[in-house]
Amino acid sequence: MNAPQVRPEAPSEPHVMQTYGRLPIALSHGQGCWVWDTNGKRYLDGLGGIAVNTLGHAHPRLVPALQEQIARLIHTSNYYHVPLQEKLAAKLCELSGLSTAFFCNSGLEANEAALKIARKYGHDRGNHMPEVMVFEGAFHGRSIATLSATANPKIHAGFGPLVGGFVRVPLNDIAAVRKALAEHPNITAVFLETIQGEGGVNPASIAFLQELRRVCDEHDILLMLDEVQCGIGRTGKWFAHQWAGIQPDVMPLAKGLGSGVPIGAVVCGPRAAKVMQPGNHGTTFGGNPLAMRAGVETLNIMQEDGLLANAARVGAELKAALQAGLADVEGVVEIRGQGLMLGIELDRPCGALLLQAAEAGLMISVTADRVVRLVPALILSSEEAAQIAAILCPLIKAFVASEAVKP
Ligand SMILES: *Cc1c(COP(=O)(O)O)cnc(C)c1O
Repeated sequence: MNAPQVRPEAPSEPHVMQTYGRLPIALSHGQGCWVWDTNGKRYLDGLGGIAVNTLGHAHPRLVPALQEQIARLIHTSNYYHVPLQEKLAAKLCELSGLSTAFFCNSGLEANEAALKIARKYGHDRGNHMPEVMVFEGAFHGRSIATLSATANPKIHAGFGPLVGGFVRVPLNDIAAVRKALAEHPNITAVFLETIQGEGGVNPASIAFLQELRRVCDEHDILLMLDEVQCGIGRTGKWFAHQWAGIQPDVMPLAKGLGSGVPIGAVVCGPRAAKVMQPGNHGTTFGGNPLAMRAGVETLNIMQEDGLLANAARVGAELKAALQAGLADVEGVVEIRGQGLMLGIELDRPCGALLLQAAEAGLMISVTADRVVRLVPALILSSEEAAQIAAILCPLIKAFVASEAVKP
């Protein structure tokens, strides 16, 4: 297990802007929940492209469908009707119970559109200084507006002045929400991730979500649930808020919706469905036929193959295996999350585990410095879940044992 290994060398990339701290690994191809690097080494993929590769790699029904679409039509612009947009929008509305969808290309774009809806919702009612309530621990993207909505000071650093009009409160604290609403009568929307992803896999509690729904109805403001990471079946329901039996007014989606093809969507209920009017918002690439086909096929395959049930069942098995494998390991604070969105919080920074896991043949992520995050494809099998735990638990044990000094 701990045999010394030759660390792989980082490829030289002098022309790629250095915006990422990358592992010294380049991937060549994938199949299901497995990926291979350019040296032929195989990895079990517990990362799923950060909760993106819903159907895993090279899915046998997605690939031919996308090949057919590419040969037929990739892009046309929104000068024309794109029939696949209505197809995907109708499907998302059917699954969510909401009314209309706008399509874009990424998570931050979906959130940007949601923030514009929140502001226009205010302006439409004579509130020309609308504010949006956001939460501690939040991550909503890296555009100037969405990084301002994000709570992480590391993401703000160097990019001020931040966009104004945000009021930040602690998560799962309904008294703080009510107090902020009393102090800020211009708030037009409450905006949060149903389960915080980058913030360390922190769920909004079911009671909190239900209270937020009530409070937003009382004030006639928008409940906007960022399901960019936790949506699209990952928790075992189509959308994570469905566990609370509520509906948002605005729901940004992205990551898992195209199973790897870039896509974003904002799905709106009746209160927000008609806020945007012709000319208010748009995007060149958004809703193009290739991305729409990827969305439609992803949702259909998920349904045909029962992937929600699989995410719930295999996710519970993985969580149980992690709990068993890490029971009594000092340094493990909590194992949390739902379905195939799991976090293992340690009591110390653990970014070093990324490379150690990769060397042991497992792709993971570490977020919020101290949280190992697993967001694999929803096709993960019981055997693969057991393998993830079998690789990861001893690594974490050895890591906390070797890193004796806590910072
Ligand atoms: C990843 C993420 C985003 C940003 O998505 P991008 O596609 O990287 O812009 C926004 N919100 C949440 C909850 C996310 O996890």
